[in-house]
Amino acid sequence: MSTDPTTSPSPRTVLVTGGNRGIGLAIARSFAAAGDNVVVTSRSGSAPEGLEAVQADVTDAASVDQAFTEVEERFGPVEVLVANAGITQDQLLLRMSEEDFTSVIDTNLTGAFRVLKRASKGMLRMKRGRVILISSVVGLYGSPGQINYASSKAGLVGMARSLTRELGSRNITANVVAPGYIDTEMTQQLSAELQDQYKKAIPAGRFAAPEEVAEVVRWLSSDAASYISGAVIPVDGGLGMGH
Ligand code: NDP
Repeated sequence: MSTDPTTSPSPRTVLVTGGNRGIGLAIARSFAAAGDNVVVTSRSGSAPEGLEAVQADVTDAASVDQAFTEVEERFGPVEVLVANAGITQDQLLLRMSEEDFTSVIDTNLTGAFRVLKRASKGMLRMKRGRVILISSVVGLYGSPGQINYASSKAGLVGMARSLTRELGSRNITANVVAPGYIDTEMTQQLSAELQDQYKKAIPAGRFAAPEEVAEVVRWLSSDAASYISGAVIPVDGGLGMGH
Protein backbone atom coordinates (compact mmCIF):
# COMPACT_ATOMS: atom_id res chain seq x y z
CA MET A 1 0.00 0.00 0.00
CA SER A 2 1.23 3.49 -0.86
CA THR A 3 2.27 5.77 2.00
CA ASP A 4 2.23 8.86 -0.22
CA PRO A 5 -0.97 10.77 0.73
CA THR A 6 -1.43 11.93 -2.87
CA THR A 7 -1.59 8.43 -4.32
CA SER A 8 -4.41 5.92 -3.86
CA PRO A 9 -4.23 2.20 -3.40
CA SER A 10 -6.10 0.40 -6.13
CA PRO A 11 -8.87 -0.59 -6.66
CA ARG A 12 -10.79 2.37 -5.28
CA THR A 13 -14.47 2.43 -4.43
CA VAL A 14 -16.23 4.72 -6.90
CA LEU A 15 -19.87 5.76 -6.66
CA VAL A 16 -21.60 7.41 -9.63
CA THR A 17 -25.11 8.76 -9.05
CA GLY A 18 -27.43 8.30 -12.01
CA GLY A 19 -24.88 5.93 -13.49
CA ASN A 20 -27.46 3.69 -15.11
CA ARG A 21 -27.54 5.65 -18.39
CA GLY A 22 -26.15 8.59 -20.34
CA ILE A 23 -23.05 10.41 -19.13
CA GLY A 24 -23.11 8.65 -15.74
CA LEU A 25 -23.01 5.23 -17.39
CA ALA A 26 -20.04 6.23 -19.57
CA ILE A 27 -18.25 7.52 -16.45
CA ALA A 28 -18.95 4.30 -14.56
CA ARG A 29 -17.71 2.15 -17.46
CA SER A 30 -14.54 4.22 -17.71
CA PHE A 31 -13.69 3.67 -14.01
CA ALA A 32 -14.59 -0.03 -14.25
CA ALA A 33 -12.32 -0.46 -17.28
CA ALA A 34 -9.49 1.07 -15.23
CA GLY A 35 -10.00 -1.60 -12.55
CA ASP A 36 -11.85 0.33 -9.84
CA ASN A 37 -14.77 -1.06 -7.83
CA VAL A 38 -17.63 0.91 -9.32
CA VAL A 39 -21.19 1.13 -8.07
CA VAL A 40 -23.85 3.16 -9.83
CA THR A 41 -27.01 4.42 -8.22
CA SER A 42 -30.22 3.98 -10.14
CA ARG A 43 -33.72 4.87 -9.08
CA SER A 44 -35.04 1.48 -10.16
CA GLY A 45 -32.19 -0.40 -8.46
CA SER A 46 -31.45 -2.32 -11.67
CA ALA A 47 -27.85 -2.49 -12.83
CA PRO A 48 -26.50 -1.87 -16.33
CA GLU A 49 -24.79 -4.91 -17.83
CA GLY A 50 -21.45 -5.65 -16.18
CA LEU A 51 -21.83 -3.07 -13.39
CA GLU A 52 -22.98 -3.13 -9.76
CA ALA A 53 -25.91 -0.94 -8.73
CA VAL A 54 -27.65 0.24 -5.59
CA GLN A 55 -31.08 1.80 -5.48
CA ALA A 56 -31.10 5.50 -4.58
CA ASP A 57 -33.14 8.60 -5.18
CA VAL A 58 -30.99 11.66 -4.51
CA THR A 59 -34.03 13.66 -3.40
CA ASP A 60 -34.35 11.36 -0.38
CA ALA A 61 -31.59 11.52 2.27
CA ALA A 62 -32.62 8.19 3.84
CA SER A 63 -32.36 6.46 0.46
CA VAL A 64 -28.92 8.02 -0.11
CA ASP A 65 -27.76 6.89 3.34
CA GLN A 66 -28.97 3.34 2.72
CA ALA A 67 -27.20 3.22 -0.66
CA PHE A 68 -23.88 4.34 0.87
CA THR A 69 -24.24 1.78 3.67
CA GLU A 70 -24.72 -1.00 1.10
CA VAL A 71 -21.71 0.16 -0.94
CA GLU A 72 -19.53 0.42 2.19
CA GLU A 73 -20.50 -3.11 3.25
CA ARG A 74 -19.56 -4.49 -0.16
CA PHE A 75 -16.47 -2.47 -1.07
CA GLY A 76 -15.50 -0.18 1.81
CA PRO A 77 -15.79 3.62 1.95
CA VAL A 78 -16.40 5.62 -1.20
CA GLU A 79 -13.16 7.28 -2.28
CA VAL A 80 -14.41 8.78 -5.53
CA LEU A 81 -17.84 10.36 -5.65
CA VAL A 82 -19.29 11.47 -8.97
CA ALA A 83 -22.49 13.46 -8.38
CA ASN A 84 -24.02 13.14 -11.83
CA ALA A 85 -27.77 12.61 -11.34
CA GLY A 86 -29.67 15.49 -12.87
CA ILE A 87 -32.89 16.57 -14.52
CA THR A 88 -34.23 19.41 -16.62
CA GLN A 89 -37.69 20.97 -16.41
CA ASP A 90 -37.45 23.78 -18.96
CA GLN A 91 -39.85 26.69 -19.04
CA LEU A 92 -39.62 30.43 -19.66
CA LEU A 93 -39.53 32.44 -16.43
CA LEU A 94 -43.05 33.81 -16.63
CA ARG A 95 -44.47 30.31 -17.07
CA MET A 96 -42.09 28.55 -14.65
CA SER A 97 -43.89 27.39 -11.53
CA GLU A 98 -42.22 27.31 -8.13
CA GLU A 99 -42.48 23.51 -8.34
CA ASP A 100 -40.60 23.54 -11.69
CA PHE A 101 -37.87 25.53 -9.97
CA THR A 102 -37.61 23.70 -6.66
CA SER A 103 -37.81 20.18 -8.11
CA VAL A 104 -34.78 20.82 -10.34
CA ILE A 105 -32.86 22.41 -7.45
CA ASP A 106 -33.83 19.52 -5.19
CA THR A 107 -32.42 16.91 -7.58
CA ASN A 108 -29.44 18.71 -9.11
CA LEU A 109 -28.15 20.84 -6.22
CA THR A 110 -29.60 19.55 -2.94
CA GLY A 111 -29.20 16.01 -4.32
CA ALA A 112 -25.47 16.65 -4.76
CA PHE A 113 -25.34 18.06 -1.20
CA ARG A 114 -27.00 14.89 0.16
CA VAL A 115 -24.50 12.53 -1.46
CA LEU A 116 -21.55 14.79 -0.71
CA LYS A 117 -22.43 15.03 2.96
CA ARG A 118 -22.80 11.26 3.25
CA ALA A 119 -19.61 10.56 1.29
CA SER A 120 -17.51 13.03 3.27
CA LYS A 121 -17.76 10.90 6.45
CA GLY A 122 -15.86 8.01 4.86
CA MET A 123 -13.43 10.29 3.05
CA LEU A 124 -12.49 12.05 6.29
CA ARG A 125 -11.89 8.70 7.98
CA MET A 126 -9.79 7.51 5.01
CA LYS A 127 -8.01 10.88 4.81
CA ARG A 128 -8.51 10.68 1.05
CA GLY A 129 -11.22 11.51 -1.41
CA ARG A 130 -12.14 12.82 -4.82
CA VAL A 131 -15.41 14.60 -5.53
CA ILE A 132 -16.52 15.44 -9.04
CA LEU A 133 -19.73 17.37 -9.50
CA ILE A 134 -21.30 17.25 -12.96
CA SER A 135 -22.47 20.76 -13.75
CA SER A 136 -23.15 22.19 -17.22
CA VAL A 137 -21.93 24.93 -19.54
CA VAL A 138 -25.37 26.41 -18.89
CA GLY A 139 -24.49 27.04 -15.22
CA LEU A 140 -22.08 29.83 -16.15
CA TYR A 141 -23.28 30.70 -19.67
CA GLY A 142 -26.99 30.89 -18.92
CA SER A 143 -29.79 29.61 -21.11
CA PRO A 144 -33.29 30.92 -21.83
CA GLY A 145 -35.92 28.61 -20.38
CA GLN A 146 -33.46 27.10 -17.91
CA ILE A 147 -33.41 29.48 -14.93
CA ASN A 148 -33.98 26.50 -12.64
CA TYR A 149 -31.38 24.27 -14.28
CA ALA A 150 -28.73 27.01 -14.68
CA SER A 151 -29.17 28.04 -11.03
CA SER A 152 -28.73 24.46 -9.87
CA LYS A 153 -25.63 23.96 -12.01
CA ALA A 154 -24.05 27.28 -10.99
CA GLY A 155 -24.64 26.32 -7.35
CA LEU A 156 -22.42 23.27 -7.80
CA VAL A 157 -19.45 25.57 -8.41
CA GLY A 158 -19.90 27.22 -5.01
CA MET A 159 -20.35 23.78 -3.49
CA ALA A 160 -17.07 22.41 -4.90
CA ARG A 161 -15.14 25.54 -3.96
CA SER A 162 -16.52 25.64 -0.42
CA LEU A 163 -15.74 21.95 0.02
CA THR A 164 -12.23 22.60 -1.23
CA ARG A 165 -11.78 25.29 1.41
CA GLU A 166 -13.36 23.13 4.13
CA LEU A 167 -11.69 19.78 3.45
CA GLY A 168 -8.83 20.61 1.08
CA SER A 169 -6.22 20.06 3.82
CA ARG A 170 -7.50 16.49 4.33
CA ASN A 171 -6.34 15.24 0.92
CA ILE A 172 -9.85 15.63 -0.46
CA THR A 173 -10.29 17.42 -3.78
CA ALA A 174 -13.56 18.69 -5.23
CA ASN A 175 -13.93 19.76 -8.83
CA VAL A 176 -16.67 20.59 -11.27
CA VAL A 177 -16.93 19.22 -14.79
CA ALA A 178 -19.10 21.38 -17.02
CA PRO A 179 -20.19 19.50 -20.14
CA GLY A 180 -21.61 21.27 -23.15
CA TYR A 181 -24.08 19.42 -25.37
CA ILE A 182 -23.61 15.68 -25.05
CA ASP A 183 -25.47 13.08 -27.05
CA THR A 184 -27.75 11.48 -24.42
CA GLU A 185 -31.48 11.07 -23.81
CA MET A 186 -31.45 14.54 -22.22
CA THR A 187 -30.39 16.24 -25.47
CA GLN A 188 -32.31 13.83 -27.71
CA GLN A 189 -35.44 15.50 -26.30
CA LEU A 190 -34.46 18.71 -28.16
CA SER A 191 -36.03 19.27 -31.59
CA ALA A 192 -33.80 18.63 -34.63
CA GLU A 193 -34.07 22.34 -35.42
CA LEU A 194 -32.80 23.34 -31.97
CA GLN A 195 -30.02 20.75 -32.12
CA ASP A 196 -28.83 22.24 -35.45
CA GLN A 197 -28.99 25.74 -33.99
CA TYR A 198 -26.84 24.70 -31.01
CA LYS A 199 -24.32 22.90 -33.25
CA LYS A 200 -23.81 26.14 -35.20
CA ALA A 201 -22.93 27.94 -31.93
CA ILE A 202 -20.43 25.29 -30.81
CA PRO A 203 -16.91 25.92 -32.17
CA ALA A 204 -16.38 22.13 -32.46
CA GLY A 205 -19.55 22.00 -34.60
CA ARG A 206 -20.93 18.88 -32.96
CA PHE A 207 -22.30 17.36 -29.77
CA ALA A 208 -19.90 15.15 -27.79
CA ALA A 209 -20.12 11.47 -26.95
CA PRO A 210 -20.62 10.72 -23.22
CA GLU A 211 -17.20 9.00 -23.23
CA GLU A 212 -15.52 12.35 -23.93
CA VAL A 213 -16.84 13.60 -20.58
CA ALA A 214 -16.08 10.32 -18.81
CA GLU A 215 -12.37 10.42 -19.59
CA VAL A 216 -12.02 13.90 -18.09
CA VAL A 217 -13.85 12.85 -14.93
CA ARG A 218 -11.62 9.82 -14.51
CA TRP A 219 -8.48 11.86 -15.07
CA LEU A 220 -9.61 14.43 -12.45
CA SER A 221 -9.91 11.62 -9.93
CA SER A 222 -6.52 10.16 -10.80
CA ASP A 223 -3.24 10.69 -8.96
CA ALA A 224 -2.15 12.93 -11.86
CA ALA A 225 -4.75 15.50 -10.73
CA SER A 226 -3.90 15.44 -7.01
CA TYR A 227 -3.25 19.22 -6.83
CA ILE A 228 -6.37 20.34 -8.74
CA SER A 229 -9.27 21.42 -6.54
CA GLY A 230 -12.07 23.96 -6.82
CA ALA A 231 -11.67 24.01 -10.60
CA VAL A 232 -14.34 24.10 -13.26
CA ILE A 233 -13.30 22.01 -16.24
CA PRO A 234 -15.35 22.63 -19.37
CA VAL A 235 -15.95 19.76 -21.81
CA ASP A 236 -17.98 21.73 -24.31
CA GLY A 237 -16.21 21.95 -27.67
CA GLY A 238 -15.39 25.60 -26.92
CA LEU A 239 -18.97 26.75 -26.38
CA GLY A 240 -18.32 28.45 -23.03
CA MET A 241 -14.82 29.64 -23.96
CA GLY A 242 -13.30 28.36 -20.76
CA HIS A 243 -16.01 29.40 -18.33
P1 NDP B 1 -29.92 11.49 -18.61
O1 NDP B 1 -31.26 12.15 -18.60
O2 NDP B 1 -29.53 10.60 -19.75
O3 NDP B 1 -29.69 10.69 -17.23
C1 NDP B 1 -29.96 11.33 -16.01
C2 NDP B 1 -29.57 10.40 -14.90
O4 NDP B 1 -29.89 11.04 -13.64
C3 NDP B 1 -30.35 9.09 -14.94
O5 NDP B 1 -29.52 8.05 -14.51
C4 NDP B 1 -31.44 9.34 -13.93
O6 NDP B 1 -31.97 8.18 -13.33
C5 NDP B 1 -30.67 10.14 -12.88
N1 NDP B 1 -31.59 10.83 -11.97
C6 NDP B 1 -32.48 11.80 -12.27
N2 NDP B 1 -33.16 12.15 -11.15
C7 NDP B 1 -32.67 11.38 -10.14
C8 NDP B 1 -32.96 11.27 -8.75
N3 NDP B 1 -33.90 12.00 -8.15
N4 NDP B 1 -32.26 10.38 -8.02
C9 NDP B 1 -31.31 9.61 -8.59
N5 NDP B 1 -31.01 9.65 -9.90
C10 NDP B 1 -31.69 10.53 -10.66
O7 NDP B 1 -28.90 12.69 -18.46
P2 NDP B 1 -27.39 12.88 -18.98
O8 NDP B 1 -26.66 11.62 -18.90
O9 NDP B 1 -27.46 13.64 -20.23
O10 NDP B 1 -26.89 13.90 -17.85
C11 NDP B 1 -26.14 13.49 -16.73
C12 NDP B 1 -25.68 14.73 -16.00
O11 NDP B 1 -24.95 15.57 -16.89
C13 NDP B 1 -26.86 15.58 -15.49
O12 NDP B 1 -26.52 16.14 -14.25
C14 NDP B 1 -26.97 16.66 -16.54
O13 NDP B 1 -27.55 17.82 -16.03
C15 NDP B 1 -25.53 16.86 -16.93
N6 NDP B 1 -25.33 17.44 -18.24
C16 NDP B 1 -25.80 16.85 -19.37
C17 NDP B 1 -25.58 17.44 -20.60
C18 NDP B 1 -26.04 16.84 -21.87
O14 NDP B 1 -25.88 17.50 -22.92
N7 NDP B 1 -26.57 15.65 -21.92
C19 NDP B 1 -24.85 18.70 -20.71
C20 NDP B 1 -24.40 19.23 -19.46
C21 NDP B 1 -24.63 18.62 -18.28
P3 NDP B 1 -33.28 7.44 -13.95
O15 NDP B 1 -32.76 6.52 -15.03
O16 NDP B 1 -33.83 6.72 -12.78
O17 NDP B 1 -34.18 8.51 -14.49
